[in-house]
Amino acid sequence: MHPIVARNRSDLTEARKGGTLALVPTMGALHEGHRSLIRLARERADEVVVSVFVNPLQFGPGEDFQRYPRTFDADLAACREEGVDVVFAPAADEMYLPDRQVSVSAGGMGRIVEGASRPGHFDGMLTVVLKLFNLVRPDLAVFGQKDAQQLSMIRRMVADLDVPVEIVGAPTVREPDGLALSSRNRYLSDAERRAALSLSRALRAGAGEPTPARVRASAAKALAEAPPELEVDYLALVDPATFLEVPDAYEGEAVLAVAARAGATRLIDNAVVRLGR
Ligand code: AMP
Repeated sequence: MHPIVARNRSDLTEARKGGTLALVPTMGALHEGHRSLIRLARERADEVVVSVFVNPLQFGPGEDFQRYPRTFDADLAACREEGVDVVFAPAADEMYLPDRQVSVSAGGMGRIVEGASRPGHFDGMLTVVLKLFNLVRPDLAVFGQKDAQQLSMIRRMVADLDVPVEIVGAPTVREPDGLALSSRNRYLSDAERRAALSLSRALRAGAGEPTPARVRASAAKALAEAPPELEVDYLALVDPATFLEVPDAYEGEAVLAVAARAGATRLIDNAVVRLGR
């Protein structure tokens, strides 16, 4: 019988059972990465809500909003298999008032690294995540480390705006050959998929190095050796809390983040790197 499909806020209220509640926000086209988040949510709370909403606000002009994969029946089946209690799948006009004015600003951190390539993306993402928190009112919410800057920005929003929710990060799920799972991987041709492997290869090359300069150099070398289908957007070694580039003397955890286009498909990946002693 599970899960209940909630299309609006009153469906959501009716579906509540009481007890602790975990939210897993997604844009659908669910894969094993999403499922790992759902399983973590199940372990941590009595009730699990998965939201499925392709948020128009976080796509820029020329991005893939129209053609983003929408596979609701398969998503529902995956949620059923994972024991999800409620799938919240609102229409866009249920989420956004036609005369809406107020939104969340991601600040300077939203304009660097991934934000430099996707202006407005983090504002739109934070706005929908805050709305989902207010609609679902979860005790905790689970997000993937795959979108490392997103996870950091959500932690910042929760701290800066005193949002009463616990944020749980979950490790990146990969194919056996290293490619990070993504709903966008289905766009890739065979040649593009082979080229896309250079992302995780570069991260592995960089992650073994002891200093920021060597991490950057090894990862850049691996990217330079990638097949011609791959067009690198950025390679960054940043402080996980601020997403600012780390200085050469930096010690501690850093995020090695990469973005590239394989044909028409934009892919991102990252690895946590431990620097210094
Ligand atoms: P999306 O549907 O792409 O908006 O992603 C929904 C959630 O799943 C986000 O918190 C992502 O970080 C997470 N996610 C996406 N891909 C993966 C992956 N390969 N491993 C772990 N989490 C992921």
